[in-house]
Parts: sequence; C-alpha cells; structure tokens
Amino acid sequence: MTARIIDGKALAEDLSAKVAAAVQRLTQDHGLEPGLAVVLVGNNPASEIYVRSKSMKTVAAGMRSSMHKLPDTITEDELLQVVRQLNDDRATHGILVQLPLPPHIDPHKMIAAIDPAKDVDGFHPVNAGRLATGLPALVPCTPLGCIRLAKSVHPSLSGLAAVVIGRSNIVGKPLAQLLLAENATVTIAHSKTRDLPAVARRADLLFAAVGQAEMVKRDWIKPGATVIDVGINRVPGEGGKSRVVGDVAFAEAAEAAGAITPVPGGVGPMTIACLMLNTVRAACASAGLSPPDL
Ligand code: NAD
Repeated sequence: MTARIIDGKALAEDLSAKVAAAVQRLTQDHGLEPGLAVVLVGNNPASEIYVRSKSMKTVAAGMRSSMHKLPDTITEDELLQVVRQLNDDRATHGILVQLPLPPHIDPHKMIAAIDPAKDVDGFHPVNAGRLATGLPALVPCTPLGCIRLAKSVHPSLSGLAAVVIGRSNIVGKPLAQLLLAENATVTIAHSKTRDLPAVARRADLLFAAVGQAEMVKRDWIKPGATVIDVGINRVPGEGGKSRVVGDVAFAEAAEAAGAITPVPGGVGPMTIACLMLNTVRAACASAGLSPPDL
C-alpha cells in the first residue's frame, strides 16, 4: 500500500483564504479589524522564525499584527506588565507569548496573566478547563489543525480508535480532548507506556507528538490507518546541513498507512492557519458577533 499524502500546506492555504474573506467582511460590515499581538523574549532563532511567519500570515489575512520583541534581561514583573497592557488594548484581540521563555520567567504565570478571551494559543487554564468540560473555548492551534487534517480523510471521526502519542499540555492532552469531543475512542500513550508499538497498532488514527525523530516505524501502523505527524526534529542532513523530520519514519510508514502527513508541509502550516482562525474567533467574541463557520 502507498499512503495518500495529506497536503497540510494546501489545506492551510484553503483555510487561510477563508479566514481572509471573513476578516474582510468583519472590517467592511462591522468596522472590526482583528489584531494579534505576538510577544517574543530573547533571541531564540527558531522562535524568531516562527514569530516572523505568524506575523506575516496575520498581515496576509488582512489583520493587524503587532510584535513586541523584548530582551532576555526583562524581569518577570516587566513582562507581566506588557501582557497586562495588551489585555487592556482594545485593538488587540489575540495575545501570543512565544514559548520557550528564558529560565527566570515562569511560563505558567505568564500564560495565566493573559486574558482568557485573548488567549489565542488556548493554553490558559480557563480555556483548558472549558475544553475539558465541553464548553466553547479557544483551543490550542496545533491540535485544532490535527483534527482538521484527520477530518480531511474521515469527515466523521466518530467511533474511530485514536491513539495520541504524547501528553503535553500544548499538543497531546488538548488533542485527546478534541478527539473525545468528536466521539473517537481515545488512548493517550506516553514515555511510560508499555509496548508502545502494540498500542499504536490499534489505531485507526495515529497522532505522534513526541519530539523523537522518526520514532514511529512501519510495523507500528495498522494497515490503512491515518497518521498525523506533529513532530519537528532537526537531524543532520547532506553536506553538513540539517534537515527537518517528524516523529514518524515517513517513507516506511507511508507503505503501511492509508493516509499520512508529511514533515514539513503537514501539521506546521495548519497550526498557523488555526492561529489566524482563533484570532478571528476572539475578535468576533469581543464584539458580541457569532464566529464565522469555517
Ligand atoms: P513535549 O516535550 O512537551 O511532550 C512530548 C511528549 O512525548 C511527552 O508527553 C512525553 O511523555 C512523550 N514522550 C517522550 N518520549 C517518548 C517516548 N520515547 N515514547 C513515547 N512517548 C514519549 O513536546 P510537545 O510540545 O508536545 O511537542 C511534541 C513534538 O511536536 C515536538 O517535536 C515539537 O517540536 C512538535 N510540535 C510541532 C508543532 C507544529 O506546529 N507542527 C507544534 C507544537 C509542537
């Protein structure tokens, strides 16, 4: 079997175009210009690339983007002050504090300081709790993107056996909650799971969010299963350069899977498109408007 490749880039472009159209309507009909503020502390090169890409996509969607680049000498109190100012800024509908933060700053404290209504990353405990209890919430962008990718193959996830490898607050746990809400039968596997390949083989839908290069092998995959690879791992490439691979050994996994996301070009672009979607949702909620059905 050769798997169908799930084109995350094309799906993300499609969603981004719909978001841009929704933004245009909001601006024309309601004078509402959604605004995203991105806070970046320090000079982490990977974070700088992510943040630049997010800002460019925000502007491309017709939204307002503001960037707050701060030195890694900033104190926790000073950073909290920046977040509070953005909470109070009426033109800012979404706030994203790029992680990781320098070691002297507690990320939990920073996330908890964001107004939950502007928490477009969906990491605030209020949004995590709302998601877990089935209330409307701003949901983390990567899991949101994973669900959209899975639904591009299975319009209904109801009754499917889903295995999520990884239990982080950013990906694994919220993804499991979203899958439950879609009526999938969910298993969360992690570093202490016994016989992980056997657990993975039970999955109709297999999500890998681990951070271990090419860990998921061909014989971990039930023939015909859909595989969504969240991992982003840098490994040595040709000519002394590095290259990015996922948590799934793509070439061999594609021989067993029915459908599979590539890395790059799978979950990554969908994550950013979902950030745009969350910003529009937050902006609509702030103005008492129903969110666009995208
Ligand atoms: P994390 O380090 O917070 O969590 C990793 C999880 O994997 C943990 O729950 C741990 O229990 C589990 N794990 C670790 N080793 C394991 C093993 N050997 N077997 C089974 N489980 C194991 O990471 P994260 O933030 O959830 O990110 C996971 C991966 O996804 C990383 O590669 C990250 O770069 C990537 N990521 C990608 C996007 C995107 O937009 N594409 C977004 C977020 C994270």
